[in-house]
Order: sequence, then C-alpha cells, then structure tokens
Amino acid sequence: MDWQCELDGLEDRPYKPGEECGVFGAYDFDGGDVSPSIYYGLLALQHRGQESCGIAVSDTAGPKGKVLCTKDMGLLNEVFTPDILEKLKGDIGVGHVRYSTAGSSTRENAQPLVLNYVKGTLGLAHNGNLINAPKLRRELEYTGAIFQTTIDSEVIAYHIARQRLNTGSVEEAVAKAMGKIKGAYSLIIMSPRKLIGARDPLGFRPLCIGKRDNTYFLASETCALDTIGAEFVRDVSPGEIVTISPEKGIVSDTSMCIPAKEHARCVFEYIYFARPDTCIDGMSVYHSRILAGKFLAMDSPVEADLVVGVPESGNCAALGYSLESGIPYGQAFVKNSYVGRTFIKPGQKSRESSVRVKLNVLREAVAGRRIIMIDDSIVRGTTSDRIVHMLREAGAKEVHMRVSSPPFLWPCYFGTDVPAREQLIAYHRSAEDICQLIGADSLGYLRVERLDEIVEGRPICRGCFTGKYPLAPPMEDIRGEFES
Ligand code: SF4
Repeated sequence: MDWQCELDGLEDRPYKPGEECGVFGAYDFDGGDVSPSIYYGLLALQHRGQESCGIAVSDTAGPKGKVLCTKDMGLLNEVFTPDILEKLKGDIGVGHVRYSTAGSSTRENAQPLVLNYVKGTLGLAHNGNLINAPKLRRELEYTGAIFQTTIDSEVIAYHIARQRLNTGSVEEAVAKAMGKIKGAYSLIIMSPRKLIGARDPLGFRPLCIGKRDNTYFLASETCALDTIGAEFVRDVSPGEIVTISPEKGIVSDTSMCIPAKEHARCVFEYIYFARPDTCIDGMSVYHSRILAGKFLAMDSPVEADLVVGVPESGNCAALGYSLESGIPYGQAFVKNSYVGRTFIKPGQKSRESSVRVKLNVLREAVAGRRIIMIDDSIVRGTTSDRIVHMLREAGAKEVHMRVSSPPFLWPCYFGTDVPAREQLIAYHRSAEDICQLIGADSLGYLRVERLDEIVEGRPICRGCFTGKYPLAPPMEDIRGEFES
C-alpha cells in the first residue's frame, strides 16, 4: 500500500500509546469530607486517562456499607459539577480516571467499582492490566458470578470479596487475591473502615502515599499530592499492601514482595506517561527525560541551529539534548490545550488534519533554520510525518528527528495501549526506512542500552522495545477479550 494512503487512513487513530489510568484515595481521620481533595487529586492525574472518571465515598461513622458514587464518561470537569461534588459526603473515598486498555470505553466500565457483598461494601480503583483475567473470569462465572462490566478490575474485586469470606480482614483477602491475579496493577480499595493500597510484585505501575494534617492519601503520581498540598510520605513498594486506618496508621504487609532485582517498572512511565513533576520510586521523571535527551545528543549528534520538543512530553528531552550539545533550546510549536482526546476529528477528505488542530508551528522560530525535533516515541508514524512536513512548510531548512525512546517493536500486555506489531512503524523497517517515510533529514532513537541509565539502574520492563517481557505474555492479545 502507498505510504501516504496508509497515513491518511490512520490519521484519526490515537498517535500515542494511551495512558492507562490514574487512581487516587483519601481517608480523613478527623471525619472531614474527602471528595474535594479526590477531585483535585484526580485533576492532576487527568493525563493518565480522559475517557471516564469517578469518585466513590463513604462515611466511616455512618451506616456500614453506604457508599455514594458518581462516575461517567468524560473529563473530571465535565462529570463533576460543584453540586454533584457537594453531595458526595464522606471521610473515606477513592477515585479513578480511565483510559481503556482492557474492556471497551463505556459508562458501565467506568471506575471506581462498588461491590456490595455479605461482609460489607468495597470500592475499588485499578490501574494496570491483568494477563490472566479471562481465565479467572471464566472460573468465577462457572461458580455463579455475574459480571456487571467487561473490565479485568471486576475480576480483582470479585476475588477480594470471595477471599474475604475465608479471611479475618480485607487486607488478608487482598493478599490472597494477589496470589491469584497476574499482571500489572496498582490498586486502591476502600472498605467501610480502611483504605488499602496494593502494588503488583513487579511494580509495573506507580503508587505513593501522602499526608496532609490528619488525612492520608494514596495516588498514582506524586504530582497529585503536590496539587492538594499534601506531603509525600513514601512510595508503596512493588508487592506491598498498605492498610491505612485511624487505629493503626499505616500498616505494611510485604509478604507478596519479591527481590528488588526482579522488579519491572514500566520504563514508559518515565519516558512519556507520568507528568515531569512526578517522582516514581525515588527517580524524578523530569531528570529521567533530561538524561534521555543528553544520551540522544551523545549517541546521535547532528549540526543544527535549534533543538525543539514536540509538546509536552518531548520538551524535557529536548532541553537535555540542548544542554549536552550546546545547541540552543527553543519553542517551535504552539499547542491547543483545549482539544480533548475525543474532539470531533476532521474527516479524511477535509483540509484540516488532527495534528494541525492540536499543534501549530511558530514560523518565526524555525524559518531558515536547521531544526532538531525531539519526540518521546513514534508509534505508527502518522504524527511524525505531519509534523516534519509542517516544519518544512514553515521554512525549516533541515529537520532532524530524535526520539527519546527506542523503536516500539512489540505490543504491551501490562496496561499500555501499544498496538499490535503490524501497526507499529518500526516493525520490519529500519531507522533509515522510517526516516524516509516521515520525510526527515535524519532520525535517531534512544538506544535500548540507555534505558537502564535513564532510570539510574532501577529494574524496569522494556518488553515493547525488546519482546522480552518480565511475565510470559498471553498467547493472544487479550485486550477487549470480554466483549467477544
Ligand atoms: S511492555 Fe512497554 S509499555 Fe508495557 S509495561 Fe513494559 S515498558 Fe511499559
């Protein structure tokens, strides 16, 4: 197929791997309402998911099992009006922003999940993707379970509820459920009197603890704690279960933890997903991106007049490239921040393009100059092609593209929407081929060996770049499995 036709057909598809989800929980030991803090915490995590969102709260002094929950499709500020938030009264709560990697994007699949069972009520928010969810779900269905959603998070909720029937506490039930589920998960669970956080033993997705006065928080990213004025207490360790209650404060269960060298944090959190003002397991995301840019400058140098980043995630790496190379850093694009993920995409025949709606080039900055343009990744190549052409149209003399991740060669099974191999531009293509296809003067990727260095030696997952996964992937692509 002609490449340009291929690009045209793909233009309206997401050009970046989808962020997975964001989770946020709060427990005010003084009995104050937590829904405003959850709302603002989630707002800081909106970049992790823009399809649906929800907040569930409960009053620990009120009737046991009464949970108030609002969830719907859309952004936080579309779903939650001041009136709706005002009605969500409770001193313990959990919230979620969603991007679907398993289960379709529908209202029924929005989180948090609220489960009423014989021992009470559970609220659950999940970030990640299980690799054995279809099998577990079938097992549960054969024993009479009826599922309300098509998401793997409900499998987790069911397992916790079942285990709770034979254990003395919710946290023990969570530990038992963790023995069954496999894959990526950062969980926040609200029981009638406890807030529980759990991270899978490999630590794919981040989770941290914060505190403000007598209120404790659990959050996907530290930037959410900053937003609500909470201090960072610590990260939840991979495999750890933390139980937060007024009686005991923070209690840690490390029985599911594995040796640190076996951890497998998603390296793409550092490269693209997380906000640069977040720290994950002691590593600043900003610093990680600066390092990636510096390594690109060392490994793929080129003479040029200006280094620019594709906003937002290419900006830090561009600054790193500039610092290392001495080539001035500048701005070449103006981003329209008001274009949501679900904006009305121009039709194929229309003169507008999705990329142009989102980005415009600063002609004055690039005309007559040799530009190094840094982006965090190339998935299908659609956007890179468009942006390179936009820079040329604006008068750039040369356009050299540098990418702050290695080429995507494999899909992800752990909660990132990296598509099937056939849709990845780097599948069966050399960097030279790709460079030609996107119309750049040169192209350089971050070397795979540099991934360890950008996270300063923390054990990571790099499966989508190498095909070597920390957990054996399922035999087939399980995304959307439950709809079949
Ligand atoms: S396969 Fe890639 S995107 Fe998925 S968890 Fe591993 S590093 Fe992250």
